[in-house]
Amino acid sequence: MSRNKADVAELSPVDGPGYVDLFAPCAKYTRAREAQAAGVYPYFIPISGSEGTEVVIDGDRKVMLGSNNYLGLTHDPRVLEEAERAARQYGSGCTGSRLLNGTLDLHEQLEVELAAFVGKPAALVFSTGFQTNLGVISTLVQRGDAVILDKLDHASILDGARLSAGTVYRYHHADCAALERTLQRAHRDLPAGGKLVIVDGIFSMEGDIADLPEILPICRRYGARLVVDEAHSVGVMGATGAGVHEHFGVTDECDILIGTFSKSFASIGGFAAGDESVMHYIKHHARSFIFSASMPPYAVATVRACLRIMRTEPELRERLWRAKQRLQEGLDALGFNTGTTATPIVPIMVGEAMRTFMFWRALFDHGVFTNAVVPPAVPEGGSRIRTSLMASHTDALIDEALEKIRRAGKQVGLI
Ligand code: PMP
Repeated sequence: MSRNKADVAELSPVDGPGYVDLFAPCAKYTRAREAQAAGVYPYFIPISGSEGTEVVIDGDRKVMLGSNNYLGLTHDPRVLEEAERAARQYGSGCTGSRLLNGTLDLHEQLEVELAAFVGKPAALVFSTGFQTNLGVISTLVQRGDAVILDKLDHASILDGARLSAGTVYRYHHADCAALERTLQRAHRDLPAGGKLVIVDGIFSMEGDIADLPEILPICRRYGARLVVDEAHSVGVMGATGAGVHEHFGVTDECDILIGTFSKSFASIGGFAAGDESVMHYIKHHARSFIFSASMPPYAVATVRACLRIMRTEPELRERLWRAKQRLQEGLDALGFNTGTTATPIVPIMVGEAMRTFMFWRALFDHGVFTNAVVPPAVPEGGSRIRTSLMASHTDALIDEALEKIRRAGKQVGLI
C-alpha cells in the first residue's frame, strides 16, 4: 500500500526503539556558530575581487597574505590568455574521466613536460592534489603492506593511507629516529609486506622542509619506497624550482613525486611522477583517477603556461624568497614567534584557538587577509596564523602588512 505525503511527514528516523539518529552530532556541533556569534569566525570569507596580492571583501581592500599563489601567476596576462584560448578551442570542461572521454592532447603534453621538469621518466595528471594522494597511496599499498607517515603529513596523505588496505603507522614530526623505529616495528608486524613512507616536501602549516638526505637512507635500510609530496615546494625550492628533491639533489632516489596545481601553478589539479611502469599501473588502477572527470582544458593550459614561465623566469623564485625574508625578518623584529619555517610559508604562533581567531579578526579589520589554523590541522595548543608570500608582493605591500600586523598584535596582546 502506498503512503501519501502527510503519512511520510509524520515518520521520524528516530521513532524506532533503540535507534540512534545519525544526524544527532550535527545539531550538537556549536563550535563554528560560537565563533560566528563572537564575530571572530575566519572561514568561508567570500572574496569579491582579486588582483592576486590584494583582494576585495565586503567592499574593503585587504593585503592578501593567505594564498598559496607563490609565484603570483594567477593574474599573469600570458597565463590568462592561454587559459582563455584553451577554453575556446576545447570547451569549458571535459565532462568525463581520463580513461574514457576526458583525455585531451593537452593532458598528455602536460604529462611529458612535467616529467621532464621534475626529472622523472613519466608523470600522470589528476584532477586535484587531494585525489592524487588518495589514488597513488591506495593503489600501491595493499593488504599486508605498511604505510608510514609523518604525523604532520597533509590530510590527503592520511586519507589515502586510510583508504588503502594496508596498516597505517605515524611517527613524530620530522623525527628520523622515530621513523627508523616505526620502520622496524612495521617490519616486525608485517615481515612479508612492502613499505611506503610518505612525507611532505614542505610541511604546509609549519613551513619546514623534509630532511630527505636523512630520510632516504633510513627508507633504504628497511626496503621502503619513498613518496615526497611537493605540493608547496614545486616552483619554490631547488635550482630550477622542481622541488625539495632537487634542492637536496636526490631526485633519482625519491621513488614518486607528488605535486598540486593549486599553488605555484595558479590553477587546480595534481600530478604524480615516477617510473613509467609505476605510473602505468596507477593509471589503470587508481579509482580517484579513473572514476572522476579530468582537469578542464583551461586549467591544463594554465599549468602549461605557468610551467613555461617557471622554467624561463627564475627571478620569480628569487623575488618570492626576498619577500619571505622581508616579512619574516619584520615579524621577528616585532617580537612575533614564527616557528621553524625555512620557506615562504611564515606562521605566527599563537597557541590557543580562540585567541588565534581574535588575532585573525584584528588582522582582518586592519586590512590583512591571513589564515587561522587550529586543531585538528595542527596539534592542540599549536594554533597559529598562517601567512604565505607571493613573488608579486612588493616591498611597500609587505611593509604595509607588517605595520598592520604590528597594530593587530598589540591589540590582542601578542607583542
Ligand atoms: N598535499 C599537500 C601537502 C597540500 O598542502 C595540499 C593542499 N593544501 C594537497 C596535497 C591537496 O592539493 P589540492 O589543493 O590540489 O587538492
